[in-house]
Amino acid sequence: MTARRGLPDDFHDMNAETHRNHRLARSLAWPVACAIAIVIALSAGAAFWWREIRPIQRHLATYHRLEDAVVALADRCPKDVPLEKWDCALGWTWNGLGNCLTMPCFLLDAHDKEERFQHFADELEVRLRSPVDVETIDWIWDEIERLSNNGKRYSDDFRPVRNGQLKEPDGTLGWPGRKSAFVSSAHSTVFHKAGCASAAKIPWRDRIDYGTREMAIESGKRPCAECRP
Ligand SMILES: [Zn+2]
Repeated sequence: MTARRGLPDDFHDMNAETHRNHRLARSLAWPVACAIAIVIALSAGAAFWWREIRPIQRHLATYHRLEDAVVALADRCPKDVPLEKWDCALGWTWNGLGNCLTMPCFLLDAHDKEERFQHFADELEVRLRSPVDVETIDWIWDEIERLSNNGKRYSDDFRPVRNGQLKEPDGTLGWPGRKSAFVSSAHSTVFHKAGCASAAKIPWRDRIDYGTREMAIESGKRPCAECRP
């Protein structure tokens, strides 16, 4: 075969090969660019989650342990304390946790503030394994003051225990530890008497309280066949 215009024989083959390579490169350019963009976006997302979201999730997990511990105290009123006083003090304590410690930014600034916060939850769970008393609530408020940037001010206004004495109940404060006559789970169509064994199994975060059985029925719940409320 004779080369046209004096070009070497394999010129056209090389030319065709180069074109094929260029076409291949062009066809791959977009997928490669997209893949790189996805990797960058995922890395940025992971870094954001690690730096910003994960600390909040860890903080909230600790905060929920504290809430659970205070709600569990509702069933452990000491013999020498009137139930209404205990209930009121725990209600304020539950509110105090919410107002002073819910988010990481509520903690008093310190390099180990999250460790100190977690230590508070650990320590409270340890204390709950022994008998509890007014001192237990007093100690929780000391911790709220120590850990929260709003703690001292909130404690000055609402601390329910002074000089070892619980304050008189004010009656208005609602909180999940307060027992009402009838309860239901948010995930169930049945309601119970508060003392029913099934009622005891409802996690407090799912529990709906009713003052009367009519209120439960009006909200669309039917009576439990066991406890017949
Ligand atoms: Zn029942």
